[in-house]
Amino acid sequence: MISRPKGTNDLLPAESQKFVKLTNFTHKFMKKYNVEFIRTPIFESYELFHRNGELSDMVTKETYDFLDRANRKLTLRPEGTAGIVRSYVENKIFSPGHFSSYYYIGPFFRYERPQKNRYREFYQIGVELIGNKHFTQDAELISMAYNFLKEIGIEDFKLKINYLGNHKELSKFKIDLSNYLKPLKETLSKESQLRIEKNPLRILDSKSEIDRKLLVNAPKTLDYISPKQTNEFQQTLKILDKKNISYEIDHTLVRGIDYYSEIVFEFQTSELNSSSHNAIGGGGRYNDLVNELGGPKVSGVGFAFGVERMLNLKNNLNSLPENIDIFLTYIDDEDSVDSYIIFSNLRMQNYKVYFGYKSNTLKTEIKNALGLGSKYLLIFDSKISGKGIVQVRNLQQHSQVELKYEELDAYLRENLEVKK
Ligand code: AMP
Repeated sequence: MISRPKGTNDLLPAESQKFVKLTNFTHKFMKKYNVEFIRTPIFESYELFHRNGELSDMVTKETYDFLDRANRKLTLRPEGTAGIVRSYVENKIFSPGHFSSYYYIGPFFRYERPQKNRYREFYQIGVELIGNKHFTQDAELISMAYNFLKEIGIEDFKLKINYLGNHKELSKFKIDLSNYLKPLKETLSKESQLRIEKNPLRILDSKSEIDRKLLVNAPKTLDYISPKQTNEFQQTLKILDKKNISYEIDHTLVRGIDYYSEIVFEFQTSELNSSSHNAIGGGGRYNDLVNELGGPKVSGVGFAFGVERMLNLKNNLNSLPENIDIFLTYIDDEDSVDSYIIFSNLRMQNYKVYFGYKSNTLKTEIKNALGLGSKYLLIFDSKISGKGIVQVRNLQQHSQVELKYEELDAYLRENLEVKK
């Protein structure tokens, strides 16, 4: 037997129904917000994710990099933003004053240590708003993400927000943070010790209890940002307050990807019972990425939700499958063509029908029909009933009539509601 690769999932019926509901909901939801669907490749050039300065852990340790048959260096996308910005720049979608809003649904790949809710292949639903920047977009994006979770019935979450500043403010902050942490180096967790020089920011969101205690008095990015940035941040929060969106300011929230600047946010839940992967999703603003990838100096702001995590949380995507109305089966092979043709005609007339392909005894077929919640069982048995006659069993009232084929539609129409 060949098994699926470690860290991947088969999405089987029941779960797959919820996934279909979630994607259908997403398309409707995004229409309301005037956000358009975008699809970019699942693999991109290696350089897109391994640019100079893009030194996040995810990129250095977790990407699936490979050479194709012509020795091109490629990477399976670990996240959505870089590919969308690449596409925005490559297709020259920008023009002065133009604003683009995109959403995507698709698989992403990270070579992580697999466990429940952390996979090597996982799906994300995300949004990117790219163009001239304004703080109302930050508020719009955060409330969009918040409403998305609420509307699919996810209630147990906290929204955490922080403001990082731009390169200038962050560089000063990183120096001060490093200086604060250096005397504590020996007491920090092993992982954090390794990050002191290269990536002190990431120490802020360390999950180690010891680190968290040591960070209580660490410098805060909010003390480094300009008065203009402070004001914009306050305005965004004011909008969220007015919309009754509750949030917490979290000075340690930095997010794992290095291109973030200014506002960052994350939706966290206690329902996943894990401190290391309690995020349902998150995002933030990126001021330099579009320009770094060869586009104009415009900014973007985006978020992504993890689909597996949303499906695993309590939600309202779970409603019962729809019952069928009519189950058809035949006793003898002689009747297989007639019964199949009548089945497909009934389907064309919008009855909710199911065809038992006679791999079973009548007793099992009755059980199957009941299992699917069917109201009628149609039995084609011409040896007993005669040619052109069908037995119509009402499974709820335990009654039975015999009808000619041509009488069937009128009879069913009288007894069943049929969607047109
Ligand atoms: P990120 O791009 O890391 O901010 O991830 C956004 C969301 O995607 C997270 O909050 C998770 O819900 C989900 N996610 C990220 N990595 C994984 C993974 N390895 N397995 C499952 N879900 C993930």
